[in-house]
Amino acid sequence: MSDIIHLLPDSVANQIAAGEVVQRPASAVKELMENALDAGGGNIKLIVKDAGKTLIQVIDNGCGMSATDARMSFERHATSKIRKADDLFAIRTMGFRGEALASIAAIAQVELKTKRIGDDVGVMIEIEGSEVKRQEASSCAEGTSIAIKNLFYNVPARRNFLKTDAVELRHIMDEFQRVAIPNPQVGFSFFHNNTELFNLTAGNLKQRLMALFGNSYNTRLVPVEEETGIVNIKGYVIKPDFAKKTRGEQFFFLNKRFIKSSYLHHAVQSAFEQLLPKDSYASYFLTLDVDPKSIDINIHPTKTEVKFEDEKAIYAFLRSTVKKSLGQFNIAPSLDFDQEAHLYNMPLKPVDGIYKVPTIKVDPNFNPFVTGALPERNTSERELSNRANWEKMYSRHADNQLEIEIKKEENNQQTIDADWDNELHESSLKTAYQLHNKYILTHIKTGLMVIDQQGAHERILYERILEAFEKHKSATQQELFPKTIELNASDFALVKELQPEIHAMGFDISEFGKNTFVIHGIPADTVNMDSVALLEGLLENYKQNLQELKSDKRENLARSMARNMSIKSGRTLTQEEMNNLIDELFACSMPYSTPSGKPTITTFSSEDLDKRFKK
Ligand code: ADP
Ligand code: MG
Repeated sequence: MSDIIHLLPDSVANQIAAGEVVQRPASAVKELMENALDAGGGNIKLIVKDAGKTLIQVIDNGCGMSATDARMSFERHATSKIRKADDLFAIRTMGFRGEALASIAAIAQVELKTKRIGDDVGVMIEIEGSEVKRQEASSCAEGTSIAIKNLFYNVPARRNFLKTDAVELRHIMDEFQRVAIPNPQVGFSFFHNNTELFNLTAGNLKQRLMALFGNSYNTRLVPVEEETGIVNIKGYVIKPDFAKKTRGEQFFFLNKRFIKSSYLHHAVQSAFEQLLPKDSYASYFLTLDVDPKSIDINIHPTKTEVKFEDEKAIYAFLRSTVKKSLGQFNIAPSLDFDQEAHLYNMPLKPVDGIYKVPTIKVDPNFNPFVTGALPERNTSERELSNRANWEKMYSRHADNQLEIEIKKEENNQQTIDADWDNELHESSLKTAYQLHNKYILTHIKTGLMVIDQQGAHERILYERILEAFEKHKSATQQELFPKTIELNASDFALVKELQPEIHAMGFDISEFGKNTFVIHGIPADTVNMDSVALLEGLLENYKQNLQELKSDKRENLARSMARNMSIKSGRTLTQEEMNNLIDELFACSMPYSTPSGKPTITTFSSEDLDKRFKK
């Protein structure tokens, strides 16, 4: 019998290795971002499409590669980071195995563009399933850009095994955070499907944490810092008052590498001992620096566990350091720990030392249903002309009523002395009828007008919201008991993107850690509406409108919010409410249709009616 053992071709060996190194898009993100860090640039950009299934691109402004190195970088066990076995014990770079690029190139279509700082030309290499397809000179920017397209295109089993985009994106975000937190001196940005999820400017650790988890972290973080012969500890823990029932944020970085360690977690958790409410977890962001000699990170390419000497000593030291920091914090609760971040500092206590109950700011003009009086709005020209049209449409009775209303506006006392006026007012107020809790019927000079109550209200709110965008203000009603709303990653990103507009509409929201917002206030019109339902409804409508209104986010927001807030068909309206609605509608610039173009009004002339009665 002949011998049966043979060497595997490189492409097969690489594919097998890839099984270990690249389990999902997030693993590729991690490898590329670590390479970018190792290259030493100050800025790293991550671009992802379809949660990494279609594209993962990392662009850095680091050292770049020569054409030969660029070609070499895709070989297995090709690295510039170590040369001999001894180097393994002095590793300061993130990578050292020389496996990542070879593995990735075995299971994806990769395009590398790179140029060393100072070189005239760079190089572009296209490689697919470990096979170089193209290599040519390229006039690219200094630094390196690597794009990975169609990950697992040739490993269908792996591809099918991937979870939904939301889940894969979550993993990518985790990896992004794990690289971004311990490297605050580097700027990072992260785009997903053309939306910027993060833009982290270079700064200190506190600023980095605030950029990632929200400005509210400014007052939650307690600094931890201590140095000994075996380990330097630096970072922050979260004040016990803000501990979470879920696991919250727990980050250890060992020599800038994210690690998991239940042993060290226990050390921190026990430092909090009595301070944490039952079943709550400590949150922390702690960097441990040790001599690379004392750790063995060479366990597994993607494992986050490490082994280190002096484990017990590090445990004890970590515990006492955190304890000490918490103790200091208890003595001086409002101490400002980090002057560098003063820009974001909000005093824990009001300047005058007195806590105020949240005030309710209500713009009386914002609610068409408050009183029977005409709203005191700044009457613009277009409103006047529309009101004039409306007056023309109205019958004599209504004309008189309008005169009275205008008079009422002039003398704010709302006292109308002549009984005769009052009678007329009363009778004309009764000229609106509600049909099936859906339509408002009213007479006009030429016949009968039917108004769709929901559509009309949508139009009114829509124009008001657009106006608020222009003027950058609208009334907010502060919530006595602010609620939190937890969103999935993509909705969270969407709200962040829309935050300025959402504020302009009258919401008062702020970030509250991972994927969560606190709603402090809602638009003043939305009396009795649940703040969480309101924001969720807005998002839902917004997303539905996205197909149709891709480009214009204000337009979309105004429409979505108007739809969301409007009085719905089925609601009984009082006379006052109907009159106000009619009034407000005709103060709009486009009273005759809803924001999405459906009619708000239809009329029947007397002649139409005559015809129906065969007169
Ligand atoms: P490792 O990072 O373990 O060395 P990789 O396969 O990730 O292995 O990368 C191989 C080599 O390619 C690296 O050692 C480095 O020299 C080079 N390289 C990879 N990415 C970059 C980059 N963004 N900028 C400069 N050089 C890079
Ligand atoms: Mg690497």
